[in-house]
Amino acid sequence: MANERPPFDVDGEVIAVLERLWRNGHGAYLVGGGVRDALLGLHVSDWDIATAARPERILRLFPGSTYENRFGTVLARGMEITTFRRDHRYADHRRPDSVTFSEDVYEDLARRDLTINAIAWGRRGPEAPARLVDPADGQGDLGAQLVRAVGDPSRRFDEDALRLLRAVRIAARLDFTIEPVTRAAIAAHAGDVEYVSEERIGSELRRMLDMDTPSRAFTLMRETGILAVAIPALEALADGDGLASEGGLARSLARLDAAAATPQGDQRLALSALLGELGPDEARVVLDRLRVSSRTSDAICTLIASASADYAATWTDADVRRYLGGVPPELLDDLLALRRVRAQVQDEAALTLEDELGERVRAQRDADSPLTLSELAIDGRDLRETLGVPESPAIGMILERLLADVIEDPALNTRMTLLTRANLILDELVQGGRGGADTPGIG
Ligand code: ATP
Ligand code: MG
Repeated sequence: MANERPPFDVDGEVIAVLERLWRNGHGAYLVGGGVRDALLGLHVSDWDIATAARPERILRLFPGSTYENRFGTVLARGMEITTFRRDHRYADHRRPDSVTFSEDVYEDLARRDLTINAIAWGRRGPEAPARLVDPADGQGDLGAQLVRAVGDPSRRFDEDALRLLRAVRIAARLDFTIEPVTRAAIAAHAGDVEYVSEERIGSELRRMLDMDTPSRAFTLMRETGILAVAIPALEALADGDGLASEGGLARSLARLDAAAATPQGDQRLALSALLGELGPDEARVVLDRLRVSSRTSDAICTLIASASADYAATWTDADVRRYLGGVPPELLDDLLALRRVRAQVQDEAALTLEDELGERVRAQRDADSPLTLSELAIDGRDLRETLGVPESPAIGMILERLLADVIEDPALNTRMTLLTRANLILDELVQGGRGGADTPGIG
């Protein structure tokens, strides 16, 4: 067996899997995004292998391998091995429900979505030379930086609407241009995105958020009409009534890119940046669509609400502490990052102000200023056992009042001082309780 290597970097482990298939008489090839990215000189972690061998045969050749899905893809030594298949009838603009195996790598490449995803490297069998198989001239399009559908674009998008999102995502990630006929076909079929399952839409959108410049994907979606179907609330920021609202989407996307460029760069921050122009209810709808957990959705809505408070240099230290008191500590870093991202796309002056706020917040944090009930020098038990306050809503009210005092002046946060003040507040409450019916009574 000749020992040619592919014209790109690939681990020996991957070649070993191919060789095992070849030695046993099967055509086998590296295919898909791995070949595409490797030819571009990008690092590849997920290799896909396509082979003439049938799934049961693959399972026997690789002890310990398992079925990856109901279409017979086998997971062996961390690689997905899929038997060649040919295209057949598509129902409902979605992937076919069953597959037909093929012996022919050309048939397998013809069913793939984009020319740059339809390049294979491997052998037809043990005696055949190793070579690139590239019937759609994917290498030409890689060189020209073009995303182009394999075959008739309109037909290919009509067959499977998921390809619309994939084409946009891949063009955005590689910063490629979508070839004009393909692009026109995407625009013509944009409405078909509604046939794609919510899960798939969500996973494609989340992958777009993870890019270095996610706005490219959103801009392509907007220009092709996909955004209106995938995330109508964001589209609505751009159309509607004129210039001011066009600014809404542009600003959201500028914030999104700025968030992606921060060191933390996580999806929570990205989504908080992207959805800040929407009302909380609208933001929830988008987050549900993205299949974001309700815990993360809550955090994002809190971040958006907290970030919308305008900071001014006239804030006192107590103002800073009051603001911090309303922010769950685990969200504080993301909140500061989000505020900075928003200021960054606004202007220099806003950014200077945010940096000042950031420093003042860090100063409060370094000083360990008490900001929450749990940081008070006394708790409900002290009120019950030392002052004899009965279990009642008054306990919470007193603690809240004490916290407000301590946020105003952290020096008050000692057990003695707080017990004394609690006593005074208690007296007030008892008096008030005698005076008016709507003061919560004690006991
Ligand atoms: P990524 O970098 O996101 O993994 P990818 O192109 O490798 O991109 P996969 O989902 O891993 O995407 O798919 C592997 C290959 O399978 C693709 O490169 C393409 O050749 C083919 N493929 C995937 N989905 C489709 C589809 N909906 N229609 C046609 N071919 C597809
Ligand atoms: Mg892949």
